[in-house]
Amino acid sequence: MSEEINPFESLREQVDDAAAHLDVDPGTLERLKRPERVLEANLSVEMDDGSVEVFRAYRSQFNGARGPYKGGIRYHPGVSRDEVKALSGWMAYKCAVVDIPYGGGKGGIVVDPDDYSEDELERLTRAFATELRPIIGEDRDIPAPDVNTGQREMNWIKDTYETLENTTEPGVITGKAPDSGGSAGRVEATGRSVMLTAREAFDYLGKDVEGATVAVQGYGNAGSVAAKLLSDLGASVVAVSDSSGAAYDPDGLDARAVKERKDETGDVVDYDAPETLSNEELLTLDVDLLVPAALENAIDADLAEDVRADVVVEAANGPLTPGADDVLTERDVHVFPDILANAGGVTVSYFEWVQNRQRFYWSEERVNDELETVVVDAFDRLASTYEDRDLPNFRTAAYVVAIERVLRASEQAGVWA
Ligand code: NAD
Repeated sequence: MSEEINPFESLREQVDDAAAHLDVDPGTLERLKRPERVLEANLSVEMDDGSVEVFRAYRSQFNGARGPYKGGIRYHPGVSRDEVKALSGWMAYKCAVVDIPYGGGKGGIVVDPDDYSEDELERLTRAFATELRPIIGEDRDIPAPDVNTGQREMNWIKDTYETLENTTEPGVITGKAPDSGGSAGRVEATGRSVMLTAREAFDYLGKDVEGATVAVQGYGNAGSVAAKLLSDLGASVVAVSDSSGAAYDPDGLDARAVKERKDETGDVVDYDAPETLSNEELLTLDVDLLVPAALENAIDADLAEDVRADVVVEAANGPLTPGADDVLTERDVHVFPDILANAGGVTVSYFEWVQNRQRFYWSEERVNDELETVVVDAFDRLASTYEDRDLPNFRTAAYVVAIERVLRASEQAGVWA
């Protein structure tokens, strides 16, 4: 990668870029560029052999003016203080783009979970939950799964919290299994908002999604659901990739069959496609729509020069480096940003929290309908902001909308003392 990226500096730059289109004084702007607080904990955990290991853990709470903090917890060796600070900010602005009443949060433990047994991971998770207990709660801060965490870890955190608090409070955490208070439609929510964003984007640009060619980088939860739902709209998914490489059929792949094959063998290249491609070849295919759905910084400025798609819809968080974003804007490639396109996940987490608090559960159809309303309304608001203020791209429009919402709530709250 030719660009060295500090995620927290990227966040600050994005806020500055958007603030250039807003009337905001420097002190207030600084308030929108850093978290309100960061918990740093050192977790002492007993290993299976009786020894003790100490793990560094963080929780960043970005801006609580619009509601409780909300965001995932990741387990990864690359977790750092600056990374969780940046991710908590992106969550704050993502929630504001789709206008759901949360401030941003994010947490993580510096650990490679593959190196530990399930019992060790349970003790580690419960140790973190114990540190988090005073600062989380359904009206304070609501964690969720992120990289290398899932329903299992969420259940341990919920159980630790409820045991220590002597209560039942399923809304303290989201991403739970349906039997433990999870929501219908959560698994497909992120891919669904990617599909809805692509559908609205094509409509806005006067293009037909039916028959449009699509390449999807990353065939996990977000990418495979987006591919399946785009196929249902009549798009032709010609290439999909994972870390093994890409399957390619210029006449269109069967998105569901590729997923079934990947579930069997672990690799999309095991699907019987006419051709395989490298990941770079997929990213530079001549298609109507490119959906990066793997990792952050997948496309840098050099690669962006070779992207031939007309439209990019970001399913992954931060798949373009800031340099790539500039190149694509200059080249008039229409990029629809992550904080809109993948906001389906946090939106259905919000629906899960609403259902938990009411102890009243919705059908999958209702969840999908409510999600569609949220994404379409957010898209329309971005489109009018982009046009009315003559902004350079949809990402800037998204940050302008989000920052204005956080700014208004922060100003209404005022400054204490
Ligand atoms: P996942 O682990 O289910 O899937 C990731 C996929 O990317 C896997 O198929 C993996 O093989 C592939 N991949 C990894 N490296 C690759 C590479 N170099 N080239 C091509 N493919 C590669 O993860 P996910 O939940 O689908 O998340 C994907 C992205 O979407 C992440 O950036 C995540 O933060 C973002 N996201 C996910 C959700 C959600 O609800 N799942 C919500 C918001 C954002």
